[in-house]
Amino acid sequence: MSYIDDIIADVEKKNDNQYEFLQAVREVMNSLRVIVDREPVYEKMGVLERLVIAERTIIFRVPWVDDAGKVQVNRGYRVQFNSAIGPYKGGLRFHPSVNLSVMKFLGFEQTFKNSLTGLPMGGAKGGADFDPKGKSDGESMRFSQSFMTELARHIGPDTDIPAGDIGVGAREIGYMYGQYRRMTNTFEAVLTGKGVGWGGSLIRTQATGYGLIYIIEEFLHGRDDSIKGKKVVISGSGNVAIFAAEKAQELGAVVVSMSDSNGYIYHKSGINLVTVKDIKLTKRGRISEYAKVHTDAVYTEAGKGRVWDIPCDVALPCATQNELDLGDAKKLVAGGCKIVGEGANMPTTQEGTEYFLSGGISFFPGKAANAGGVATSGLEMAQNSARLYWSEEEVDMRLKGIMTGIYHNINDSAREYGKPGNFVLGANVAGFKRVAKAMLDQGII
Ligand code: NDP
Repeated sequence: MSYIDDIIADVEKKNDNQYEFLQAVREVMNSLRVIVDREPVYEKMGVLERLVIAERTIIFRVPWVDDAGKVQVNRGYRVQFNSAIGPYKGGLRFHPSVNLSVMKFLGFEQTFKNSLTGLPMGGAKGGADFDPKGKSDGESMRFSQSFMTELARHIGPDTDIPAGDIGVGAREIGYMYGQYRRMTNTFEAVLTGKGVGWGGSLIRTQATGYGLIYIIEEFLHGRDDSIKGKKVVISGSGNVAIFAAEKAQELGAVVVSMSDSNGYIYHKSGINLVTVKDIKLTKRGRISEYAKVHTDAVYTEAGKGRVWDIPCDVALPCATQNELDLGDAKKLVAGGCKIVGEGANMPTTQEGTEYFLSGGISFFPGKAANAGGVATSGLEMAQNSARLYWSEEEVDMRLKGIMTGIYHNINDSAREYGKPGNFVLGANVAGFKRVAKAMLDQGII
């Protein structure tokens, strides 16, 4: 057995049932075969053994009182995966599907993603199995306050700086920040995604979606092409999906779909984002309502069809993990899709990813393609430290610069290790090298 096979076997043995975590570890480890074969120091110094175990995993009780006066209890998590290159950084997810496996996969992935941004940020992830859907503002506030009451003792502006993720937007960040400030009597920059006016950065809300389009545009630019005129299919209708659609439209693409967990809409002439924002961001409604406003759009319920059935040039999965499987990948390729950019974290199954790669599809893995969000969180931290604010143009320019840099880094890395165009390998190797160097420099810890 090789070093990598030993690591995978050991992680499988010790984390059985943690499907998502195992999937993420296998993908990264398989990419790293090319580098550990060349550089035996990683094995000698046990770098991979250390990399696959979180530095710290915190699981805690989150009790709160609902509007009916009944006590509810959820499970909270913070997985502080790796802080070799900077304080822990990564989002908080509130969704019923949250469990230890999901938290660990996200924290593990975040380590490499943050490394790719070039900024000083380690990897972490957290959240709770709380469902914000259908909760009143009061319920969301009481839950967020209770969650922060425990989390506060494990985070800090030089230790761990969480952000938002699925189910955690401006409302929840506001409630959590308020509670932290009240508990510590400090106005510390302990969360990112804060409101503009109390420490938040301009463009942070848009950053993940915009960054996704910037990396694809940079790739196309190198081929004397652009996203202009291309037909784009997007899943999800949350933060990432909406702002990916916005930037794609701004650059002349035709975005024809969006979805949520109940179904998807197909609007051949192009999605009207004003309507989507009104339904999703203002009213917190369902995407099905779109077809009532735009009667030439078609709504398909989940289970009766897949958003990936729609022929397109570019597919952007922006909802959740493992939402695009092998069958979906085959349909997309048959429908003419040439580019896939993961706005979500690990939305494509391993089999789907392999199918895209073997078919010559330009596939941008989440840890590179959606790094714009955390990169801009890094820019928010920099502004907070300097106690100043940059203009929208300044932040956007830096975001673009970071995404362009990530593209060239993963492209060069794929070439260097003999797999040109394989951005999965390029991202894993490039992300790993920076973290591994820091771990080697800092001794056995
Ligand atoms: P939001 O909560 O704003 O939106 C999530 C969207 O995905 C909603 O449309 C939601 O539909 C849908 N969705 C969530 N879970 C499921 C599911 N199990 N099945 C089908 N649809 C689902 O989250 P974000 O847009 O912030 O995050 C989306 C993805 O992007 C996640 O993978 C996240 O980790 C990743 N990401 C987010 C970043 C950010 O800055 N926000 C940064 C980098 C990555 P419904 O309302 O029905 O649940």
